[in-house]
Amino acid sequence: MKNYLLYFFILLLWTSLIPFTPVVINHIENNEVITETEEMYTVLLPNGETAEMTLDEYVLGVMLTEMPASYEKQALFAQAVCIRSYAVYILEQAKHENNDSPHPDADFCSNPDCCRRYITYDALKALAGDDNATERYNAMKDAVYETSGEILTYNGKTAMTLYHISSPARTESYENVFNIAVPYLTAVNNVDESGFIYYEKEVKITFEELEKLLMSNGYDYSYSEGEQAFATLNENKRSNYVMFGSTEITAARFAELVGLNSNCIEITKNSDGYTICSTGFGSGLGMSQYGANILALQGKTYKEILSFYFTDTQLVKRK
Ligand SMILES: [Zn+2]
Repeated sequence: MKNYLLYFFILLLWTSLIPFTPVVINHIENNEVITETEEMYTVLLPNGETAEMTLDEYVLGVMLTEMPASYEKQALFAQAVCIRSYAVYILEQAKHENNDSPHPDADFCSNPDCCRRYITYDALKALAGDDNATERYNAMKDAVYETSGEILTYNGKTAMTLYHISSPARTESYENVFNIAVPYLTAVNNVDESGFIYYEKEVKITFEELEKLLMSNGYDYSYSEGEQAFATLNENKRSNYVMFGSTEITAARFAELVGLNSNCIEITKNSDGYTICSTGFGSGLGMSQYGANILALQGKTYKEILSFYFTDTQLVKRK
């Protein structure tokens, strides 16, 4: 009980420091107390306001939305390093492309299509309830602060550490998706993730429903009897396109339209429509979170998990 109260007190103190005060760190070197002020960053919050915080505070706010707290400690550690590396990667990109920043007054925003989804502890409590939020916060906080300063690099440059929820037999290469080769974002042979609760998703759609859906989204398509329908398959068993007759749709867009979880797509024709299945969850780029948890359960450390998914990268302490 005492420990719990102490924890809660520290938690309150810590959270109250989040938005506005620079963090002063004291450490002792050669019997002298050295005081450093940790660098602060501006985060554009979901409500449109901005907040100043340390890098780890930002990483923690992203961690709160990204991985189940029940995942193994080493998987959470790997996730924290991914988020921190990606944050540093964004900061470095902004320096090169200053004029193009979608939010010139903030280092990070909370939009997952731009930076990463960020959530405050208060927002988490409102969403998950106090007890769940506390448990989640506790697990994530440990992962962030025990890996503090650690990032992944490739040839001395900060790696673009992407991640996704789950992959089938192989992850996907960056080059297959964006036509640019990134040496550490290649496809890797993955661990068996078939135990994942959302591993497969099946959608049934009638010919009429498909026609309506595609037409209302700007595709020139009308169903004709005897049409061939299939999803293309690349070397990683992922689809770039799906075809219904002569109508071609990118797999990612099609997945979004019919509510599939990934671009590993299989199409089967029935008497009155199509059954469409997806395997895995998310883009397939970089680290699979569910796979990271399996590797952790097999006894792998977070360093090994990161090397498994990000080829030839190094884990370094940021200066
Ligand atoms: Zn952004």
